[in-house]
Amino acid sequence: MADYRKMWEELGMDVDLHDQLCAVLPQAFGDVFLSQENRPDSMDYYNMVVADIHGIRPAELIEHQKKGGKVFGTFCVYVPDEIVFAADAIATGLCGGSQFWVPGGEKVLPANTCPLIKASVGARLDRTCPFFRIADMFIGETTCDGKKKAWEILSKDVPLHVMDLPQMKRAKDIRAWAEEIETFKNVVEKFTGNEVTAEKLAESITLINNKRKALERLYNLRKNENLPISGCDVLLISQIAFYDDPVRFTQMTNKLCDELDQRVKDGVSVVPAGTKRIMLTGTPLAIPNWKLHNIVETSGAAIVCEEMCTGTRYFENLVDESKTTLEDQYMALAERYMKINCACFTPNEGRIDDILRLAREYKVDGIIDVNLKFCNLYDTEGYFVEKAMKEAGIPVLGIETDYTDSDAGQLRTRISAFIEMLDNK
Ligand code: SF4
Ligand code: SF4
Repeated sequence: MADYRKMWEELGMDVDLHDQLCAVLPQAFGDVFLSQENRPDSMDYYNMVVADIHGIRPAELIEHQKKGGKVFGTFCVYVPDEIVFAADAIATGLCGGSQFWVPGGEKVLPANTCPLIKASVGARLDRTCPFFRIADMFIGETTCDGKKKAWEILSKDVPLHVMDLPQMKRAKDIRAWAEEIETFKNVVEKFTGNEVTAEKLAESITLINNKRKALERLYNLRKNENLPISGCDVLLISQIAFYDDPVRFTQMTNKLCDELDQRVKDGVSVVPAGTKRIMLTGTPLAIPNWKLHNIVETSGAAIVCEEMCTGTRYFENLVDESKTTLEDQYMALAERYMKINCACFTPNEGRIDDILRLAREYKVDGIIDVNLKFCNLYDTEGYFVEKAMKEAGIPVLGIETDYTDSDAGQLRTRISAFIEMLDNK
C-alpha cells in the first residue's frame, strides 16, 4: 500500500492498529489472486484498486467532500444508491469482511452475532477503516435483527438513517418500500442541501443500471464451457463494485469483458476441461473475505456463480428507465429492489427459484450453500435450499463458517471430498 498515513491521521484513524491490517493484506491478496495462472490482463485495474483500497478511493471521496459533497455509507443491497447519486452525493459500501475488525465489534455486540455485523461495527468503533471514517451518514435497514440493534449502537457515534424494509412482498409492501424510498430521498436532500429532481434521478437510474449491465455481462461470460475468468477474480470485482466510482467501474468491467469475449472466441479457459463447476449460495462475502473461493479453486473445482449479495443479488433486474416523474420513479425503484430475494423475507420461495434457474444457466455440477456463523435467516433457509436441490438432483454441500482461518483445514477436507464425489459422478 502507498503511504496515506497523513490522510488516515486526519481522518482520526488508529493508524498504528491499522498498520497491522496493512501488513497482512498484501500477503493474503498475493496468495489468493496473484498466484493464479492465466489471469486476464484487465485484472490489473482491480489489482491496483485493491492494492491501495484504503488510499485511492478514500482520497477521491475526501476530494468530493472538500468540494462540498457528501458521502453515504451503506450495508445492504436493498438501499437504492440511485437516490444518493441523484443528490450529487456518493454511496459507498461499508460491509466488513475481515476478522481483523471482529474483536472491536465484540466489545459492544453479543459474541453470537454474525461476523459481518461484528466486523462492520468494529471497523467504525476501532477507527481502522477509512471508509467508515469518511462516510458522513450511514444508511441502515431493518433486514435482520442483528443489524437492527447494531444501528442503535452505531447511531451514537455517527449520523445514521434506517430504512424500514418490509418483510413480505405483497403489493402493499412494495408500495411501502416506494414510500420509504421517498423518505430516504427527503433525508438525503436535507443532508446534502441538493434537490433530487426527476431528471437527476433518471440520470442516476441509468448510471446504476449501466453498472448492473456490466456485471451481468461479466457473469454471462462465466456461463461458457470454457471459463474465461476464475471465480476468485469475479468475486474481487463484485466486492470492488460496492466501493468504486460507478462510471469508471462500468468502463473497466466492460473493458475486461471485451478481453473475455476474445478469450471465449479463442477457446481460452482458466481451468482444464472437465473441471467441476460450483455455485455458491447464501450469505454475502464482503471484502476481503476470499476464504471459500480460494479453498474451492485450489481444490480442483471452479466457482462459476454466486447467488449472493456479492453476486447475482446485486445486479440482477434493472430499474425501469422510462419513468419521468418522481412518484413513478420511486415505484420503479421499489419494484426492482423488491425482486431481490434475501432470507430476511417470508416467504422467500423466489430465492429457491433463483437458485434452480442459476444452476441451469451456469451449468453447475454442484452447489455449496454458505452460511456465516450466527446468521439464523440463511441457516434456516438452508433447509429449503438443500431440499430443493436434492429434489432437482443437484448435489449440495451446506457449510457454516466465519472470518477466521481456524476452520480452513476442515473446510478444505469437506470441500475436497465434495469435489471428488462430483468428479466420480
Ligand atoms: S443478505 Fe440480506 S440483509 Fe444482508 S446485504 Fe444481502 S439483502 Fe441485505
Ligand atoms: S449474514 Fe445474516 S445475520 Fe449477518 S448481516 Fe446478513 S442477514 Fe444479518
